[in-house]
Amino acid sequence: MTADLTAAGARAAFDVLVVGGGASGALVALHLLDREGLRVALAEPRPAPARGTAYSTPRAEHVLNVNAARMSAFDAVPDDFVAWLRTQPECIGREDAAVAAQFAPRRVYGRYLQARLDAHPARASLAVHAEAVVDIERDGAGFIATCASGAQLHARAVVLATGSPSATLPGGVPVAGAVDAWDYDAVAEIASEADVGIVGAGLSMVDVLLTLQANGHRGRVHAISRNGLMPLAHAPGTVPQPGGVEALMLLGVRARMRMVRQWAADAVAQGRPWQDAVERLRPHARALWQAWPATERRRFLRHAVRQWDIHRHRIAPGVAAIVDDMAATGRFSLQAGRLLRIEARDGRVAIDWTPRGAAPATTGVDVVVNATGMEKRLSRAPGRLLPALHARGLVAPGPLDLGLATRGDGEVLDANGEVVPGLWTLGATRIGDLWETIAMPELRGQAERVAIGVQQTLAGR
Ligand SMILES: Cc1cc2nc3c(=O)[nH]c(=O)nc-3n(C[C@H](O)[C@H](O)[C@H](O)COP(=O)(O)OP(=O)(O)OC[C@H]3O[C@@H](n4cnc5c(N)ncnc54)[C@H](O)[C@@H]3O)c2cc1C
Repeated sequence: MTADLTAAGARAAFDVLVVGGGASGALVALHLLDREGLRVALAEPRPAPARGTAYSTPRAEHVLNVNAARMSAFDAVPDDFVAWLRTQPECIGREDAAVAAQFAPRRVYGRYLQARLDAHPARASLAVHAEAVVDIERDGAGFIATCASGAQLHARAVVLATGSPSATLPGGVPVAGAVDAWDYDAVAEIASEADVGIVGAGLSMVDVLLTLQANGHRGRVHAISRNGLMPLAHAPGTVPQPGGVEALMLLGVRARMRMVRQWAADAVAQGRPWQDAVERLRPHARALWQAWPATERRRFLRHAVRQWDIHRHRIAPGVAAIVDDMAATGRFSLQAGRLLRIEARDGRVAIDWTPRGAAPATTGVDVVVNATGMEKRLSRAPGRLLPALHARGLVAPGPLDLGLATRGDGEVLDANGEVVPGLWTLGATRIGDLWETIAMPELRGQAERVAIGVQQTLAGR
């Protein structure tokens, strides 16, 4: 399925180049293919398109963090994922309601996205280029993208769908014995007797725990995070109550938190799950973020972001039960503290850290896993492409150095704050502008609007 474009120095011309073939890139490609006559290239170094970080896990225990009913790839067809799932061998014979309610393995979701791409009637107009883009320059009204091999792709428009790489460990030169939580194979190879240290306590830490558990791990797992807080569980039957959001718009961080806590308490008093309160906010998260001035957004990042994350990015109840059991049986502990350094010492990995409210300490483990999640800051973006575009002034940091500066439906702004005609982006790169921008409900809408915007740009030339 990969077009033969990989020879060094090869040149090829397209209407649109989508850089990054994770979920976002695949969705943009699907919407571009809907528009007749566009020649589209998708550059993605991973062996299979439409997977990205989340859906490339080969592990059955890594499940979606929302139920299947909410994971359609298309706003216009809300039951598309469930309809596809029903045709899959693992769901044949299951009740429709059970299929829709399940937290499906993420690898199955990757298969779904790829199936939708492969089945598109205009699939032949899509060339998949199996390598990374390392630089992009303007070329008249279009762009030249240079790939890692030196191959060049010419395109009239470019969509940056590069997601976000994992953050490097704080203070951290990589040490022997350190693995990345998103390197699923490396985590699966951790010896069953090994003592494991995990830095970070979000969804990626949960992934690691699930794999250790699935592999019969018998060592101890020590997780350290700044706040010692981990994702909370979904509650069945959560129903967002309407209204009340207008009042929140006018409030700062503290007052908003107070009001949302009150909503949660009211829900519980009525015999409803507290999760109703978060669902009530969810569709308005972007507007709520944008209503704050920079000072208030900074305050949120400093004091409240972790509380938001653990309530907003929840885990399946079955997953929470596994983690609770690991903690209750003493195989897993999570502590709050500040990481000082990680280094190889005496044949093990030494994690030097300061537990909250206590003197500096060292925890010795056999393996340390970086589960610190995504790197949101352009100034620290690893890899070659974003630093190169930043150095060229073709992109600029988004608000508070989060993601890229963008506007509207994903037009990229350059170092002078001007729109770069024909350069678009979506997903994690828009976090500074939109905040709520990495989950499928947001990505599917963004992808469609980017495709419309790109088509209009090209038609206007
Ligand atoms: C572990 C995990 C679990 C998640 N679970 C869910 C979930 O259950 N439900 C949900 O709605 N959301 C979930 N998410 C959120 C998730 O981010 C989105 O659903 C979605 O997968 C993001 O896709 P993306 O394409 O924007 O980014 P990524 O998945 O990061 O994909 C970006 C792709 O771009 C490629 N790339 C990067 N740089 C270049 C370059 N220079 N040249 C070419 N290619 C490049 C990368 O190889 C990668 O494949 C999860 C996220 C993670 C990390």
